Amino acid sequence: RKLSMGNGAEKGENFEACGGSRIMVFVRLRPMGKKERENGSRCCVKVLNKRDVYLTEFTNDNDYLRLKRLRVRHFTFDSSFPETTTQREVYSTTTGDLLEAVLEGRNGSVFCYGATGAGKTYTMLGTMENPGVMVLAIKDLFAKVRERSLDGNHTVHLSYLEVYNETVRDLLSPGRPLILREDKQGIVAAGLTQYRAYSTDEVMALLQRGNQNRTTEPTRCNETSSRSHAILQVVVEYKTRDGSKNIISRVGKLSLIDLAGSERAIATDQRTLRSLEGANINRSLLALSSCINALVEGKKHIPYRNSKLTQLLKDSLGGLCNTVMIANISPSNHSFGETQNTLHWADRAKEIRVKGCEVNEEVVVQVSEGPDQAKLVLELQEEN
Ligand code: ADP
Ligand code: MG
Repeated sequence: RKLSMGNGAEKGENFEACGGSRIMVFVRLRPMGKKERENGSRCCVKVLNKRDVYLTEFTNDNDYLRLKRLRVRHFTFDSSFPETTTQREVYSTTTGDLLEAVLEGRNGSVFCYGATGAGKTYTMLGTMENPGVMVLAIKDLFAKVRERSLDGNHTVHLSYLEVYNETVRDLLSPGRPLILREDKQGIVAAGLTQYRAYSTDEVMALLQRGNQNRTTEPTRCNETSSRSHAILQVVVEYKTRDGSKNIISRVGKLSLIDLAGSERAIATDQRTLRSLEGANINRSLLALSSCINALVEGKKHIPYRNSKLTQLLKDSLGGLCNTVMIANISPSNHSFGETQNTLHWADRAKEIRVKGCEVNEEVVVQVSEGPDQAKLVLELQEEN
């Protein structure tokens, strides 16, 4: 299966060749919600060719019909998912190949990034009718384990935890905060539930229950907090015997992460980052940005210790690990600013892979000057 990588390479090969120190970046546009349609939201994002994202800025709503001073920005990613994309398509394009690596004893991680309401939880967890990446990955994992059951013995353990306000909690067995400790295997959350899973059926219910344990914002008591990060860790251990009856054990870990809403902490450069750091915004999200910046710049020191989230993800971010980012965006012009920030951030994350070999493209089209491309995009947007 070919993936549009721009260089025509097989996705699997690329994961191998890069030794894991690259990030695959995807964008998922969600459909317009009913409420949004009713309150007169306009669509300002269009995904074309499963790759290109066009973001239109309506400078003045009244100017819309006269098409005056309208800017269209263009971004391109490993794959971009239009609003019609199914959960399974998102899963198989972003995470399917990671599973193979995990079964071979490597680590992988998939992050959903984006503003509150952009579709992160839908993408990761989904609903009973339309399960998301977490559930589909586990389903796929059990199928693959069954296929390989003759080669050796696999065990699958699940942990589901939350980082909220620099406190780590067990979502499968809520109680006192967990303490992070460093041991031979790296950072571990002491006492974290490791749920031995035998089948897919039990998992969706388990995860939904876990999700209900996520911290709720005091002011909006029914809504899970936009400041909480949820991490599902799937640990696969594979045991087999070699020719001389030695037992060989391999452990691979897949981390699936539903990040806190990015609207409160956007920082794509070090200066903004520092100014935000004083403001007690989402420390873990800022620390993640710092680590990604350091990885992008090829720094020796990656500041994992700066937050609970990055400590927990240390072995799933750099090193021998494959990382996938899914940037979730809303189509509504009311979310223009957040969408623009998310796309810039995703564009930056891409550099880990393409440093020095791909131009960071940002096309600004003035309608009055170069109408053709902008008109095309506009026409497409009006179809929505
Ligand atoms: P977030 O977790 O980023 O805050 P949610 O995943 O909760 O956002 O999505 C906000 C709303 O939009 C939810 O009602 C969700 O069901 C809906 N939604 C998000 N993405 C999609 C999608 N791809 N298809 C259909 N509905 C979606
Ligand atoms: Mg959410």
